[in-house]
Amino acid sequence: MERKRIIIAIDGFSSTGKSTMAKTLARRIGYAYIDTGAMYRAVTLFALDNGLTNGDGTVNETALTAQLGEIAITFNVNPTTGQSETYLNGQCVEREIRSMRVSSMVSQVAKIAAVRRALVAQQQAMGRSKGIVMDGRDIGTVVFPDAEMKVYVTASAETRAHRRHDELVAKGDTSTTYEEVLHNVMERDRIDTTRAESPLRKADDAYTLDNSHMTIAEQDQWLIDLYDKISEGTNDGNN
Ligand code: C5P
Repeated sequence: MERKRIIIAIDGFSSTGKSTMAKTLARRIGYAYIDTGAMYRAVTLFALDNGLTNGDGTVNETALTAQLGEIAITFNVNPTTGQSETYLNGQCVEREIRSMRVSSMVSQVAKIAAVRRALVAQQQAMGRSKGIVMDGRDIGTVVFPDAEMKVYVTASAETRAHRRHDELVAKGDTSTTYEEVLHNVMERDRIDTTRAESPLRKADDAYTLDNSHMTIAEQDQWLIDLYDKISEGTNDGNN
């Protein structure tokens, strides 16, 4: 029996492991996966590499807005790892967009209305034929308010900072301290939840997942159980 293809929106704070669980779910059910944080990160990298910052290190909004048309973001699957990677104007930037240089600037870029308008339009186009798992901050509230399945992921700032720090160390970054990561996580939470443009908030019809004390296997199971429950309820009856 074939199930109807739906849109799955996964939102939440940074470093909750949203992307990992969204990717796993997409792979298991044969859906496309889109990491919208990677799109905001790619725009940030473009701003940094093209000198679109002010003397005080803040982003130059006017200059970036004027150059938005020159930014093309795509996702391609790496044939060796089977993982989706982010490309900025034809260049693979998957590694660079995860650096602290980008992390410390991305929330500044993500609060610019013109940036959000441009990226939201691209995200909506990607979901037109459904069968998609998209993770971000405003997917269930702004990008796809009618998504059939919405999840809001949360965990304590300390748990998230530990996870992110471990990840950086595993990637060979031994110079960034846990305190710096915790500061970055809390600062991004503050900007993401208080900005005027599409602040991070739980959609009224989203299911909350607090994974502070869950293993990856447990959260994956929680997600697939929810998908089974929701997609059975939306079976289109054609089969
Ligand atoms: O998900 P990730 O932590 O990689 O996202 C990086 C940043 O991009 C977030 O801290 C947030 O400022 C911004 N973002 C956003 N809206 C989204 C996805 C990410 O504002 N849909």
